[in-house]
Amino acid sequence: MTFSVDPFQYTLRKPVSCCGIGLHSGRTVNLSIKPSSENNGIRFFRTDVLPNHHIQAHMDMVVDTRLATTIGNDLFHISTTEHLMAALHGFGIDNADIELDSAEVPIMDGSAEPFFQLIKTSGKKKQKSLKKILRVIEPISYTDGDKLITISPYNGFKITGEICFNDNVIEKQKYSFELSAEKFGKEISRARTFGYVEQVEELWANGLALGSSLENVIAIHWNRKSVLNEDGLRFDDEFIRHKVLDVVGDLALLGCPLLGHVEQATLPVHCMQHGRRQVIEVAGATHRLLTVVQVFVDRQRTLPTVGGILDGECTDHQFHGAAVGGEKFDRHRIQFARAPQHRAVGLAQSLRAAR
Ligand SMILES: [Zn+2]
Repeated sequence: MTFSVDPFQYTLRKPVSCCGIGLHSGRTVNLSIKPSSENNGIRFFRTDVLPNHHIQAHMDMVVDTRLATTIGNDLFHISTTEHLMAALHGFGIDNADIELDSAEVPIMDGSAEPFFQLIKTSGKKKQKSLKKILRVIEPISYTDGDKLITISPYNGFKITGEICFNDNVIEKQKYSFELSAEKFGKEISRARTFGYVEQVEELWANGLALGSSLENVIAIHWNRKSVLNEDGLRFDDEFIRHKVLDVVGDLALLGCPLLGHVEQATLPVHCMQHGRRQVIEVAGATHRLLTVVQVFVDRQRTLPTVGGILDGECTDHQFHGAAVGGEKFDRHRIQFARAPQHRAVGLAQSLRAAR
């Protein structure tokens, strides 16, 4: 059986760097993405605290998903990893060292596009080792309230997402996407974070989202009929495209590509409901995907691998924590299941003035 995933690992050709602001702190962040040896995976380094220590970008290291995906250990945390992780995964980078001088990955324009372009300027370098690939071999599903997530066997990485909001801007949107670097660049990477204005005001009131502005978030007007961004939307269905982007970024925390068709939907009754809670709940569904995959890995006990090439050779240590279950697994499962917030909703001082 052949799959549409290149079996070899890749890293960057040369280091690249950029500078932006942290969504929550509002402070400047310098970020570098550097080539790394095969089998290293994606590693985050904090140059401002402990330059020689790293955190592995892996679902086992997720400590918080309330406002963004945060990974951490006893020494330090890194938050808002999802758009950068999506760009690396979308471009097909398996191994890279990320250095930053803050606890937040910069928000840039609220999408993955700046990171994707940056990585593109570096280019990909093929490495000798083969990728480890998580292949879904039986359908799995997960329901939580009115949300349904399924992952079915598929010879590629396909995501179908659906959202349903009770407003005149988002309404009901459905989008299906099969991952390739080209399609990621064209269809997904430019889709920005979004939120209702009053969500942002609440974050502000709590001292959060200080770096947010109309430069890095789509803000939906109080009247629910338009967006406040002067240039409007980049795609008519930019909202669901961004959701798909977040799914790519969060599933990149598996530490390897997934072969399967991920579908997430909200049952129709949801459309009848009102209010901000609805937004938050739908957003939380992204993170439940990791729960589903954890359940899947837990059930399989061993990591399925790419057919023919790696069968029997691959026991991925990175999966160990999830695969063996136990306390660690349960803790994360609970955490994901509770993930309550939409991340990265932000708004600038200028917006406040505009009201
Ligand atoms: Zn996002």
